[in-house]
Amino acid sequence: MSIIVQKFGGTSVADSEKILAAARKAVRAQKEGHQVVMVVSAMGKNTDLLVDLARQIHQDPPAREMDMLLSTGEQVSVALMAMAIDSLGHQAISLTGAQIGIKTDSTFTKARIRSITTDRLRQALDEGKIVIAAGFQGIDEGFNITTLGRGGSDTTAVALAAALHADLCEIFTDVDGVYTTDPRLVPDARRVLRISYDEMLELASVGAGVMHNRSIEFAKKFNVPVHVRSSFSDNPGTLICAQPESSDQPVCGAALVRNEARVTLLGVPDRPGVAAAVFSRVAARNVAMDMIVQNVGENGLAEISFTVFRDDLPTTLKAVEEATREVGAAGYNYDDNVSKVSVVGLGMATQPGVAQRMFQVLAEKGINILMISTSEIKISVLVDRDAAVDALRTVHEVFQLEVPPACESLEAAGVILAGRAASAAVNNTAEIVARMQGMEDLIIEGIALDESQARVTLVGVPDRPGLAAHVFEQVAAGGIVVDMIVQSVGREGHATLSFTMPQPDLEKGLTIAAGLAKRFNCGKPTSCPRVAKLAVSGTGMRSHTGVARRLFQCLADEGINVDMISTSEMQINVVVDGGQGQQAREALRRKFADVML
Ligand code: ADP
Ligand code: ASP
Ligand code: MG
Repeated sequence: MSIIVQKFGGTSVADSEKILAAARKAVRAQKEGHQVVMVVSAMGKNTDLLVDLARQIHQDPPAREMDMLLSTGEQVSVALMAMAIDSLGHQAISLTGAQIGIKTDSTFTKARIRSITTDRLRQALDEGKIVIAAGFQGIDEGFNITTLGRGGSDTTAVALAAALHADLCEIFTDVDGVYTTDPRLVPDARRVLRISYDEMLELASVGAGVMHNRSIEFAKKFNVPVHVRSSFSDNPGTLICAQPESSDQPVCGAALVRNEARVTLLGVPDRPGVAAAVFSRVAARNVAMDMIVQNVGENGLAEISFTVFRDDLPTTLKAVEEATREVGAAGYNYDDNVSKVSVVGLGMATQPGVAQRMFQVLAEKGINILMISTSEIKISVLVDRDAAVDALRTVHEVFQLEVPPACESLEAAGVILAGRAASAAVNNTAEIVARMQGMEDLIIEGIALDESQARVTLVGVPDRPGLAAHVFEQVAAGGIVVDMIVQSVGREGHATLSFTMPQPDLEKGLTIAAGLAKRFNCGKPTSCPRVAKLAVSGTGMRSHTGVARRLFQCLADEGINVDMISTSEMQINVVVDGGQGQQAREALRRKFADVML
């Protein structure tokens, strides 16, 4: 018999009527012949209220107690939902995370799922019951209640679907699908019919709050088709599966993380091991660093900038203070009034010029870009918080995200919303699972080496709106296709901008850079005629805070200095000296052997 997992978010169970409406959907699915598992969130804004309550009592509440508290929200909902099903004359059983056997690690407030026991669930389903599982929670080895991080009920739902080999995971929410960006911020946003796991993973991790990003890691790893749809209608929504909606549009969506903070370590000795020391301190506190930009050193000194969620800033600064002392950096500064705007799309990997268009249009609006980080399917820029929504609207418009791809309808897109068939089996799930210790473990799919590129760096460029646009306009006019771009704000309003390009274009690139340097009245551009770019790709590259640490430690142990860094959910790219590429790849392969596919 087919199994369907249906998840209802907070708004969808906000009052008794909504709970009954959700219950009816589950009963209907059961009548259609499916075994049904419901996953429910806390009612309405209950989790927020509990967080507020805790903060009234303690500024920084102990994480274990926080989880004990927050898990109660979901416990209320599951009990009421079971009553609702019973009132409709059907059998139901509510279960907490612990009762299901969702085992997690002990990282309170951000726990990761290790395993799920399905015996009890299956037995209840076989008895004809609708199983109602509390979202967002689990239990650790010591029987402590844990939670998976805000928004984590999505992850419970997809993880249960994976563990049960369910045919479909339906995410019922207050929007009728995944949009090209948050429709509350950009009214022109368009609902997409279908989106690939990779794009959704990246979008979720750069701010598209409609799905918890870790839920998409599960979906991708275990090949679970996910249907995001409205709780308040029966219309089809968006299918998240292996294939993208359109192959000819370079960008599929845009997103915003409003509350970010930037931290920069200044005057850092530019030698192997320094980045590793900084990142290991931050990772040890379970803080995920986001945009990481390391500037190529000038006079033997470098700057390392990165962003974190603003809420993580106090913890991060403690780590940074220690790191500053440890590596002998001159100091650090931070800006907690910044936001990150990103565009995502699989098509970017093959269509050049996306970054340039984004920089151009932001320049035209007078929006200053504080930091840039690009990866294969994503471009992120950091801007002042006041300019963030304007920046999001602007990029949404320039990439015409409101325009649907030609001839797309649910049918034309081949979207069959019932069953795994809709999601081409690209993963060998059984093999992956057999090798994983825990369901949410990191998986590295490959370590690629590209030795065909050169690097150019502009240092001490006056940081003002239009800088990046100007540089890349010139570069593009010279017929140069750039690959990786990183920019960071430096001291006293000066920025450093590095990019890589094919080696044969270096001379042209340098001539253009020299002209720009003259114009900006800044230092002579530096370059490296042969760099090696290493791309470590996998699932959960950024949400596993230890990956960057391991990577940098490994290179440091080999005495290899890192020139440029960029991160995404799917990939961490590092650029090192061209002569050290092979050595770096071998070392990384050894270092990650235990988690390589
Ligand atoms: P739930 O409580 O059901 O989990 P959430 O509030 O977590 O719901 O997620 C739904 C919200 O996500 C929407 O109301 C919308 O404002 C926001 N959102 C952000 N980005 C997107 C996007 N790209 N598509 C759809 N909704 C988005
Ligand atoms: N109730 C939790 C939260 O508000 C989990 C969820 O809704 O997904 O974060
Ligand atoms: Mg949510």
